[in-house]
Formats: sequence, C-alpha cells, structure tokens
Amino acid sequence: MNFSEEQINRYARHILLKEVGGEGQQKLMDSKVLVIGAGGLSSPNILYLAAAGVGTIGVVDDDVVDLSNLQRQVLHGTADINRPKVLSAAESVAAINPDVKIIQKNERITADNAMNMIKDYDVVVDGCDNFSTRFLVNDVCVFQKKTLVSAAIMRFDAQLATYRAFPSQRGEEAGPCYRCIFREAPPDDQIPSCAEAGVMGALCGMVGSLQATEVIKEILGIGESMAGSLLVMDGLSTTFRKIAVKRDPGCPVCGDNPTITDLSVHA
Ligand code: ZN
Repeated sequence: MNFSEEQINRYARHILLKEVGGEGQQKLMDSKVLVIGAGGLSSPNILYLAAAGVGTIGVVDDDVVDLSNLQRQVLHGTADINRPKVLSAAESVAAINPDVKIIQKNERITADNAMNMIKDYDVVVDGCDNFSTRFLVNDVCVFQKKTLVSAAIMRFDAQLATYRAFPSQRGEEAGPCYRCIFREAPPDDQIPSCAEAGVMGALCGMVGSLQATEVIKEILGIGESMAGSLLVMDGLSTTFRKIAVKRDPGCPVCGDNPTITDLSVHA
C-alpha cells in the first residue's frame, strides 16, 4: 500500500474497520463506479462514494440544475441553477475529495452509447427517474456482467436492490436481473413522475445513502449482498421489508433462452 500521510488520515475510519483495512481502502481507490443521473438518489451516492475514496466516478446526466431540484438534490446549490448537473457534481466532488477522478457525461444514456458508456466500470448505480433508462441500463449490465445497484423513489415509497445476474467472485450464484422481476417497461404515460406525484426530499438522502453503502460492500466483497433481495421502504410508517427475489430462467434477457440479445428493443 502506498498511501500518503494525507490519505492515511483521510481514510483512517475506514482503515480501522477490519472488514475494510488498508487493502479494502486500496480496492475502493482502484474502483470505477458509473452513476446514472445526478439527481435526488444520485446526490448522496456521489457524495458518499467520493468521500469514501472511490477512485473514478462517472456521472451521466444531460440536465441543468433547476430551482425545484434543490429540495432533495444536495449535490447542487443555489448558485448552480441553470448550470449542467454533471459540472456541479464534479465541483462538489472536487471540494470533498481531490483524489477522485470524475468523468462528466453531459448526455443522455441511449441504446447507441450505453454499451460504450458502461463497459469500463466495475459497478453501475441506477439513480435515474424513468423506466426506459432503467431497462436499458439493466440489459447492458446483464450483457457486460456488471453489478447494478438500483433504487427508485416516489412520494414516501422507495425500493432498493442489487442486480448481479452472474455468479459473484465469492462464489454466490447468479441473482435476478431487473427484468426477472419487472419484465417490461410500462408505457410512459401510465407512470407519474416525481415532478407530478412529489417526493419527500430527505427520503432520497436515506435511500441514496443505503445505495452507496451497497456499492461499497460490492466493491469490497464484504457482508451480505443485496443481490437476490428487494428492499421495500415506506417512509410514512418507517417500515422496511426485505423480500427474497429469484432469477427467472424464463427471463427474456438473463434467462436460459434469452430473446433479448442486443439493444434493438431500446432503439
Ligand atoms: Zn433476468
């Protein structure tokens, strides 16, 4: 380990944990995480992953900061209104931890660029706000054997899961992908967005922080993976239910006889 004095100090509380130690901290510093979206869920993800010393963080978002974002998107400030979210994210990360390399992708992830965008990363964080992106990212993660840590939030409700549709390095069997559970994207006009339905801002902080914790666990290979579980949270009653979910051999993308073998369904 070649830590500088400053790094030993910065990461001291991680290094003290026997499950992390110097070796785990080095793993974090060598890791590459791609965050899809720079909004409510991605804000705590990006902040905590940067603080944890994840070496490279890619951020994909084609939006600019809007005043109505600031109720929950704690990555951005009032002075960032009308500025690209990826730029604001990069500045927030640099202020927290100059060790982190941040890659700004000021564009939408699409069927044309998704394979290229994801291929160099170890773990993908889904913090997007729409189903078509969610399914696209899932399918690419299945094709490229990437671990996908996914969360979704609406009003006072949230869900969290890790999708690893291939055996882990620790020998755990393949878990389900997003499509094993949700199969197909509903028509866009049937689903209200947070802009229409509202969302409790602080809940984004809680769920996004849980998501960042799962990303860090996956990188370190510690604890019990959320692969094979779906966590359903109700913020109004403060209840958490962890539901076992299984890989579906009939899944069109990760099943035994897949019918989706490229991204043409997303074109
Ligand atoms: Zn599947």
